Amino acid sequence: MASIFSRIVAGEIPCYKVAEDANNFAFLDINPVAKGHVLVIPKHEVDYLFDLSDEEYASLTLFAKRVAAALKKAIPCVKVGEAVLGLEVPHAHIHLIPINKESDMNFFKEKLQLPAEEMMQIAESIAANFQ
Ligand code: AMP
Repeated sequence: MASIFSRIVAGEIPCYKVAEDANNFAFLDINPVAKGHVLVIPKHEVDYLFDLSDEEYASLTLFAKRVAAALKKAIPCVKVGEAVLGLEVPHAHIHLIPINKESDMNFFKEKLQLPAEEMMQIAESIAANFQ
């Protein structure tokens, strides 16, 4: 069965899309740890990030770099932090999170619940800065 993320790429499940290229896709995390929390995924469904082929891994990494640049413009922050966990959804993904202090990357604190309108504005603003 296709992963929830493959179903998002296929358009079967809605998302707040941020960017896309031939091999990769980026959208807002539905339970953000900080405003502008983005997930970057390969379209090819592979559970474990380090099982991607060298080409897929390089493509995903370079795509994430472009998304991070757009994210930093859309949500001013000291840096964009990157994390890989992958214990919940078995489809490789990189978390990109705008951070101003270490605790902004804390996955154990209560997640934000932002109104749909705000999520849409954040996604649109990142998308507008994506090059
Ligand atoms: P992990 O696999 O531990 O890296 O966590 C999976 C992440 O995917 C969590 O931060 C979830 O909030 C996020 N997530 C799960 N389902 C969706 C969805 N349908 N849309 C956006 N984000 C999701």
